[in-house]
Amino acid sequence: MTIQLPTPGNTTQRVKAGFIVLVRNEELYGMLDSMYDVETRFNSKFSYPWIFLNNEPFTEEFIQLTTKITSGKTHYGLVDESMWSYPSWIDQEKAARNRESMKSIPYGTSESYRHMCRFQSGFFWRHPLVLQLGWEFYWRIEPDVRYYCDLDYDPFLYMKTNNKQYAFTIAFVEHSGTIPTLWSTIREFVRISTAKGKNYFPNLATESLYRFVTEEDGESYNSCHFWTNFEIARLDLWQTEAYQNMFDFLDKSGGFFYERWGDAPVHSIFASLFLKKDEIHFFNDIGYKHSIYEHCPEQESLLKRCTCNPARTLDYTDNMSCLNTYMDAQGFSTPKNRKTVNE
Ligand code: GDP
Ligand code: MN
Repeated sequence: MTIQLPTPGNTTQRVKAGFIVLVRNEELYGMLDSMYDVETRFNSKFSYPWIFLNNEPFTEEFIQLTTKITSGKTHYGLVDESMWSYPSWIDQEKAARNRESMKSIPYGTSESYRHMCRFQSGFFWRHPLVLQLGWEFYWRIEPDVRYYCDLDYDPFLYMKTNNKQYAFTIAFVEHSGTIPTLWSTIREFVRISTAKGKNYFPNLATESLYRFVTEEDGESYNSCHFWTNFEIARLDLWQTEAYQNMFDFLDKSGGFFYERWGDAPVHSIFASLFLKKDEIHFFNDIGYKHSIYEHCPEQESLLKRCTCNPARTLDYTDNMSCLNTYMDAQGFSTPKNRKTVNE
């Protein structure tokens, strides 16, 4: 397969696309840090716009400083209760009891984290501001992330030209305590929709990347997911009937509140079952850090544009990275188990 990279520089056509950020006012300075990296590494050459979303109104200070730091337009949207509250069918006392029993799980006791994950799974792609702007692709950014490599081509144009629908930089193993019934609920959705004559996953058996998330027989979820704090994808991937119905089914089951389903496993399982393998892309050339984990390209030709240490890349770390599983599922070869993050 030939991959066509867009030509470097900013004279190429612009895609209808931009950055989407869900963020709190108190994360302003972490947001500016992230934006500084994105702007200097890439966006100062391309001036793509930004959408900021928040379940509380943004402060004047937040709006002024984030507007000043970018070369692109900025838009600010409120996430109201229709997208950030308990649906009527959720038993809130049961949800509270379950949170108490999840003290040993990351964000296990957090109520707001659950609203956040549900919003990122089921709503950001149909927020009124996002629909109004009508973008084809988005790039998700969070506060306090780092971008380590100069990017002299347009990844949105790359995605469009090469028919990519979903892209990632880090593939991670999920804490299984957050998603005990996610896989069985998705299987149930597939079973029920098939029984109703709806084949929502026509690529599943032959052309999908299902081996990224499960074994040959599909019995269980292996916990592999793309880390969604970085995500470049088509907005209409989530606007498909298949995804909307799958989200509704998951939402009705209550797992976003009774368990602690993350948007990352939800997006990743859907993309892996729904898309064709070659519609999913690994941006190896985007050096990226979120929390203490990072992806750094190891090839010398790429590294010369980066300031990260390739020895610290998570890529082939056992029990944490799912990049080997991804490469196997794609049928690509890999240098397996070469190093650990702490070496
Ligand atoms: P982690 O990446 O899983 O550790 O979770 P984060 O705390 O980074 O949250 C993920 C994203 O959602 C970040 O962009 C946060 O700024 C945002 N976020 C998380 N909780 C809230 C919230 O309660 N309100 C708003 N507006 N944004 C939130
Ligand atoms: Mn984060």
